[in-house]
Amino acid sequence: MLFMDNTTTQLSFTGDILSKKKIVKAWKSLTKKPFPYGKMTACVLESEEVDKAWEILRNSPNIRNCSVQEYGRELPLDKKTTAVTFIATHGEESNGWAIIIRKDSPIGAKEELKHELSHIINGDITLDGKAFGQTIK
Ligand SMILES: [Zn+2]
Repeated sequence: MLFMDNTTTQLSFTGDILSKKKIVKAWKSLTKKPFPYGKMTACVLESEEVDKAWEILRNSPNIRNCSVQEYGRELPLDKKTTAVTFIATHGEESNGWAIIIRKDSPIGAKEELKHELSHIINGDITLDGKAFGQTIK
């Protein structure tokens, strides 16, 4: 998992946007904390789209890439990266979490979603742009 703090780069992809219902259900299976309504989007994209998305995220100078060590190592943003959470600007002043999940992830989209949500629940990535982990870009 890598965290992206996306300030101004415009991103648009084609894929399946997960329903609010699905996201809320996954959230509630993990925590009693209130769901941040209106502050979260999650989509499942085909592999080619995901690779394109990572490419854009990797090459955007205005994106601060904060990665946390997971599974005992620092994860690069590459073809093996199955999901990413980043902060997206939804409006002039409104920020929200955006989760991108690779469709053919070996653990499945549902588990990927739960994993990403657990980072948000744990406060690993917060909307004020302060993310834990090491800034590598
Ligand atoms: Zn992770």
